[in-house]
Amino acid sequence: MFAFDNSYRRLPERFFRPAEPAGARAPRLIRFNTGLAETLNLDPAAASDETLAAIFSGNSLPEGAAVIAMAYAGHQFGNFVPQLGDGRAILIGEVMDRDGQRRDIQLKGAGATPFSRNGDGRAALGPVLREYLVSEAMHALKIPTTRALAAVMTGEAVHRETKLPGAVLTRVAASHIRIGTFQYFAARGDVEAIRTLADHVIARHYPALAGVEQPYLALFSAVATRQADLVARWLSVGFIHGVMNTDNMAVSGETIDFGPCAFLDEYDPRKVFSSIDQRGRYAFANQPGIAQWNLARFAETLLPLFGGSEEENVEAANGALAAFGPVFQTFWLDRFRAKLGIAGEAAGDLDLVNSLLKLMEAGEADFTRTFRALGKVAGGADIGLLATEFTDPTGLDDWLARWQQRGESDGRTAEARQVEMEAVNPAIIPRNHRIEAAIQAGLAGDFSVFERLHAALQTPYVEDPEFVAYQRKPETAERVERTFCG
Ligand code: AMP
Ligand code: MG
Ligand code: MG
Repeated sequence: MFAFDNSYRRLPERFFRPAEPAGARAPRLIRFNTGLAETLNLDPAAASDETLAAIFSGNSLPEGAAVIAMAYAGHQFGNFVPQLGDGRAILIGEVMDRDGQRRDIQLKGAGATPFSRNGDGRAALGPVLREYLVSEAMHALKIPTTRALAAVMTGEAVHRETKLPGAVLTRVAASHIRIGTFQYFAARGDVEAIRTLADHVIARHYPALAGVEQPYLALFSAVATRQADLVARWLSVGFIHGVMNTDNMAVSGETIDFGPCAFLDEYDPRKVFSSIDQRGRYAFANQPGIAQWNLARFAETLLPLFGGSEEENVEAANGALAAFGPVFQTFWLDRFRAKLGIAGEAAGDLDLVNSLLKLMEAGEADFTRTFRALGKVAGGADIGLLATEFTDPTGLDDWLARWQQRGESDGRTAEARQVEMEAVNPAIIPRNHRIEAAIQAGLAGDFSVFERLHAALQTPYVEDPEFVAYQRKPETAERVERTFCG
């Protein structure tokens, strides 16, 4: 079923540790992602649910599996930890997908590894369902992300604050190499390993850089550009990652390690959901600044490869790092121009976007619903449809007049503009209360809520009457204010 080609396993031994899945007592398939399996050239059609549960619980490893735990370090909430590593994840191997892209297949929650420290290497059902739903929703929202291939119940309990059902998530990534992977070797003064890792990353994720004059500086800038694009996309849909530690930032530019992540309901740039983020380090609007902070840590690991004097290397790194701000700003403004349905570039665009966000913040306007309603107003709907999203719509009329004036100049019809806006402003996002409801039902043995939400999230830009309830914002009693790591 798997045509493995395990390139990471061929790197030096100190890059990983051997790891064996612990096995599950009574594995039961929750969901298998047939569409994703097809793009990976897997052939699951022949496999029964029992076979899939056996494979994706770690009970019956496919032939050719690599089974390793990757070594990495990381800054957790700003504090450096020289050894973290895959403590509850086991890489089973790499396959080439239909586009010729190499993809990691990893079991998350399949048991302890040499990096588990005091952890059990297990995952509880709730976080597995959350990661499945959110990562697949991110993909449907056209945001680079790891994917979910399978979710399996283990039939065993995991012990957190209480006893919870255990589960394994199989995730697929362009790679699981993190900024923290580079930091692991930097902390050990192992420049040879940093060079080997950088060459592996260039070959795997940035092949165009292979022949350039300063490949490692170019690698830094390329990673920074992808992160800028990624975080701009997050902000354009109201996503808060929640734990942007350097070990949770993939050098491929994919969203990775969905822990206490969440989506904004009402717009609030200071919003924090994660129960462990007490100081708001990873608040919604802090994410670009944190990405840049993490990239500075990445640059530090690459300095010995830059080839100049220490002073020259630092200067080169600082120059490349300084580019992050303007690059991010360009990506971000382009996303929000599209959300406002304005074409081209005009001097007042940044202020136009920020003025709306200020009104939304003051008026506690729902982020998703507001932009969706704006598309309808562009198409000719009454502005009451938009105003109703604001507790206080003061200033909205003036703003709309500016926006209409800015949008009039380009000659598109109202209908065309609405269509374009609705292609970038989702109607359906994985709202926290919906995820929570899916988890609670799952814990009670009912996966139909999970399945229905998953189905709704597949077509986020379509207002399917069947899924109209998923466009609704939470009632006061339904609101979820805290999310947990699990
Ligand atoms: P995270 O913040 O979940 O990305 O994980 C941070 C570190 O803790 C990583 O090294 C994980 O592998 C490890 N870790 C998290 N949960 C567990 C667990 N249940 N058992 C062992 N290691 C874990
Ligand atoms: Mg972490
Ligand atoms: Mg992590």
